[in-house]
Amino acid sequence: MYYNIYRGPLAKGCDMCLVGAKAVIFITGLCKYRCFYCPVDRERFGKDVVYVNDVRVNTTDDVVREVAASGAAGAAITGGDPLEVPDRVVEIASALKRAFGKEFHIHLYTRPASLDNKTTNALINSGVDEVRLHFLGYGEVAGRLHYIAALKYAGLSLGVEVPAIPGLEASISAAINALAARGFVDFVNINELDVSDSNIDMLRRLGYRVGDGSAYGSFEAAKRLMELVRGVPVNLCRSKTKDLYQIGARVFREAMFSAASSERVRDDGTIEYTEDGVHPGHRLARNIKVKIKLGGKYLEVA
Ligand code: SF4
Repeated sequence: MYYNIYRGPLAKGCDMCLVGAKAVIFITGLCKYRCFYCPVDRERFGKDVVYVNDVRVNTTDDVVREVAASGAAGAAITGGDPLEVPDRVVEIASALKRAFGKEFHIHLYTRPASLDNKTTNALINSGVDEVRLHFLGYGEVAGRLHYIAALKYAGLSLGVEVPAIPGLEASISAAINALAARGFVDFVNINELDVSDSNIDMLRRLGYRVGDGSAYGSFEAAKRLMELVRGVPVNLCRSKTKDLYQIGARVFREAMFSAASSERVRDDGTIEYTEDGVHPGHRLARNIKVKIKLGGKYLEVA
């Protein structure tokens, strides 16, 4: 079993994410950064494409439709860097709030260097509830404090979400503590350093040893980072938590919303059905098949 470790209350975005209640909106693959830890699929990185829960979409109406079909109660806006397309952030976040109400919770990931007059205004006027910044040192936030303050004073929840990179704990925690001392940090979310096809070569070149889904030493670095960060709630989100619980819960939730009355959703999010429409639980059910909905498509499991 894999459990997160946390100190203090969880951020609302995390709370909802862990039970699969967040749709993931990949709002663009555009990004001017080249973070060595970037896990974004190379098929998407640098391309101006939009996906909702891995389903490619073209319009804001498509986004709203896919989110509705997933049964989500909130959304995570990711990319790429969402602030490469600030007008789209405003359009999509506003459309989601209009469609699902102001309680529909939206969080967004970006880097402090992307905050300027235009993007900060866009965030404040978009309906985004929670902004999560990632950075590796104070130098990245020093020139952006007035924008960060503006977000905070506008009532947005501000968090820091960083990968636990062995060797950088002191630099990352010093930056977080400096922001926290000004009252700018509502929560910190630390991720294990995920290894994917996109970053494995770079991580190896930099001397990291890669293990089962994350870099060796990353969990220990996360715990050190957690100890070094002072005075704010901290959640250590483990890679396996994301894979096994968060994504699993989302698949289950979507299955519950999409399954027909003649189908039965299993705990793992797969759906039992029969070709002649007899409910799998009925005594006359024959040739029970199993499918799962992934990336907007049904895949036959058995
Ligand atoms: S900002 Fe995000 S998408 Fe861009 S390079 Fe860094 S991790 Fe990748």
